[in-house]
Amino acid sequence: MDGESWIGAELDRLHRAGRRRFLRTVMSAPTGRVVLDGREVITLGSNNYLGLSTHPKVIEAAANAVQVYGTGASGSRLLTGNCQLYTNLEAKIAEVKGAEAALVFSSGYLANIGAIPALARDEDLILSDALNHASIIDGCRLSKAKTQIYRHRDIDHLKFLLSQSATFRRRLIVTDGVFSMDGNIAPLPEIYGLAERFNAMVMVDEAHSFGVLGKTGGGTVEHFGLENRDIIQMGTLSKAIGGLGGYVAGGRMLIGLLINRARSFIFSTGLPPATLAAASAAIDVMRSTPELRRRLFSNIRQLATAMSEAGFRCLSTETQILPLILGSAKTTAKFADMLLDHGVYAPAIRPPTVPEGTGRLRISVMATHTTADLNAAIDAFNAAHLTDSCQSSSS
Ligand SMILES: *Cc1c(COP(=O)(O)O)cnc(C)c1O
Repeated sequence: MDGESWIGAELDRLHRAGRRRFLRTVMSAPTGRVVLDGREVITLGSNNYLGLSTHPKVIEAAANAVQVYGTGASGSRLLTGNCQLYTNLEAKIAEVKGAEAALVFSSGYLANIGAIPALARDEDLILSDALNHASIIDGCRLSKAKTQIYRHRDIDHLKFLLSQSATFRRRLIVTDGVFSMDGNIAPLPEIYGLAERFNAMVMVDEAHSFGVLGKTGGGTVEHFGLENRDIIQMGTLSKAIGGLGGYVAGGRMLIGLLINRARSFIFSTGLPPATLAAASAAIDVMRSTPELRRRLFSNIRQLATAMSEAGFRCLSTETQILPLILGSAKTTAKFADMLLDHGVYAPAIRPPTVPEGTGRLRISVMATHTTADLNAAIDAFNAAHLTDSCQSSSS
């Protein structure tokens, strides 16, 4: 058996290319400062943007649900696992989204790999942004539809592909709302305009926009005032909502179809009751505390301004995601290690997650970071900058 030797060779190859990944261990709650591998550091990479995963009301709701319902769902939702807490959560998501109905999956990844193949089948065409999240890419791969990739946020390219699509039965355009590694926002009004003109469905992944963008935290759709349009809103409860679970919000018929066709919904166990209760409570807190969103955005401005003054130019400063492009996988990993030496954890994102040569730190800010946290982070950036000849990018 040479199983071990080829696996070792694969890992060596990843290592030499600066692409091998290792797990770090978080030994505290996921707040703005965490104990990482035994050492306290400032986290600039959390998706828990509003700090809701440690909010007292959210914790209380989860703890109560454990007392009443126990720890597990006991089955898939179509069999024994459809805990009544789903009803409240789905009604709440539908309301926030201005949609008729919503369906909760066990994660955002499962929502995408289930919904996309249910919506687009053989004879159909999927048009997908070049920088869409891996779960969208995998959803397209699992679908029997043909997939064409349009250049990132390139409306002319999308229009061209739609103009050539008459032979397909149905068309589905799918895009991240906020791009997870670039932090910029999809041109949803233009996409929706094209969809109407070429009779295509639109699905937007609100993973990084739900709870963040829009007057009430509804996401990209609300940000652009596109509520009540025919847009399928997918998202996750694992980022600004601070828990776990994916969702799709849209028309009642759409939800009926997903219950019957989305394999990741049908063949996977329902979420634990505590997770459902926590998500409902977190959405309530998110909606009733606009102050959290204001703090998030003032923290973004503070960090982005200080970084720019220190000579670090982020790819985008539109959202809570501030990508600092560093180039090769090795340079990126090295800069991230130096920052960590100076007490700041910002995840190094390397290919294949992002295109070759665009390795980056994916810096993200939380509403709960204090001014002192952000100042300490800037000091660490400056110190790491000086230790190394590594140049910040101006692209
Ligand atoms: C994180 C993420 C997902 C997956 O959501 P999970 O709940 O973590 O499985 C899907 N799409 C995008 C854009 C994401 O960033």
